[in-house]
Amino acid sequence: MERVEVTSVTHSQGVRMLFSLMTPNESSFATVREVPTYVNQATPYFIGLILLEIVLGWLKADGPHIKINDFITSLSAGMMSRLPQLVIRSLELSAYIYVWNNFRLLELPWDSAWTWWLAFLGVDMGYYWFHRFAHELNFLWAAHQVHHSSEYYNLSTALRQSVTQQFSSWVFYLPLALMVPPSVFAVHVQFNLLYQFWIHTELVKNLGPLEWILNTPSHHRVHHGRNPYCIDKNYAGILIIWDRMFGTFTPESDKVVYGLTHPISTFEIWTVEFLYYPYLWQRFWEAEGISNKLSIIFKGPGWTPGKPRLGDIADIPQLTGEEKPHDPAWSPAMQAYVLIQFMLLIDVYNNLLMDQMILSELSVLLLTAYVLLSLTSLGFLIDQRANAAELEMLRCVLIVALQRFGYIKPLVPLLAFLIEVFVLISAVYWSLQFVNQRTNGMKKQN
Ligand SMILES: [Zn+2]
Ligand SMILES: [Zn+2]
Repeated sequence: MERVEVTSVTHSQGVRMLFSLMTPNESSFATVREVPTYVNQATPYFIGLILLEIVLGWLKADGPHIKINDFITSLSAGMMSRLPQLVIRSLELSAYIYVWNNFRLLELPWDSAWTWWLAFLGVDMGYYWFHRFAHELNFLWAAHQVHHSSEYYNLSTALRQSVTQQFSSWVFYLPLALMVPPSVFAVHVQFNLLYQFWIHTELVKNLGPLEWILNTPSHHRVHHGRNPYCIDKNYAGILIIWDRMFGTFTPESDKVVYGLTHPISTFEIWTVEFLYYPYLWQRFWEAEGISNKLSIIFKGPGWTPGKPRLGDIADIPQLTGEEKPHDPAWSPAMQAYVLIQFMLLIDVYNNLLMDQMILSELSVLLLTAYVLLSLTSLGFLIDQRANAAELEMLRCVLIVALQRFGYIKPLVPLLAFLIEVFVLISAVYWSLQFVNQRTNGMKKQN
């Protein structure tokens, strides 16, 4: 088997890459194969900053509002969105390499700082236009709405990513492939995504002169708002200059109410990721005439017949200032259970991403299926679905099997033992819940 080296980032780079503070010197590579998997290696740094935000939030009276149900849903979406890349090569990169190989007009040197900066600007502008189209074309919004579906705004919201978005974003970077080598692009497309993590916070209020040039927490809070003044504004990735240039910039003013204009009120991950597609399909068939049908797909999500391309701002639900995020009551014990199970899952997921090159195909497939099943089952539990008990019972049995056969390897043997005991007790608990539900159901039928 061919051996593939995975370049690891140092701790200093791990922190700096989250703020786009890497230098051309340390992040220029001759080939795509040498480019570190920055995003896959970012998990510990994401967790570190999330913990810091939680601690600072506790210290401040008006700190960030974090709820376990919303938090886990956002992280689940982030994990789910990275899974396709374990099985297929990123479409963004494959399409880019194809255009570079067949249609390039110029071959800029990969080791020049000029090329590096040109790619930085090019990727950031490509992202601006992709993001703007993702809001202005209904069929792209079907994917992107996932990122806006949280009614909270904290670092975990940044990770709430769409699974299907990666199948359309690649188009917007292709002009760069006419001259910028794929290895330079592969670096910047990752840095651009990573930069957008830290701006999802309410803790940073205003950054003075930096607000002129950079996309900041304040600018991006506006982007996540459902107040009328926030709709279709501030699409920037790293630099806010694109919004200022192309007329979509607006500064933060009234208190922002976060989320979609019509909140989805669910934490079940498949619904969060895919619910817009059947809705789009239904609207398409209900629209009268081919022109209206095409408009449903290619105009803004708020468009209705007779309205401007992006719909009418007056049509969105009015805000009262009393809006409360969807947060049905659930017991502290269940919250603790889901959180512990989720932390165990993150460990498996992180190992899968880091070791994907050295794992066998069977292991990658098996562990990917396990991660998906876990996200589903924990989503059912958070959403308090009726069939959550049987799925969780099955999942607990699977964890023990995967650990016994060596597919899941905890850090130390003692931990393996503790996890097995915890999961076995959980399996018994869920079996009892399941039997209980069945007998109650039968009693009701009689
Ligand atoms: Zn957006
Ligand atoms: Zn965002």
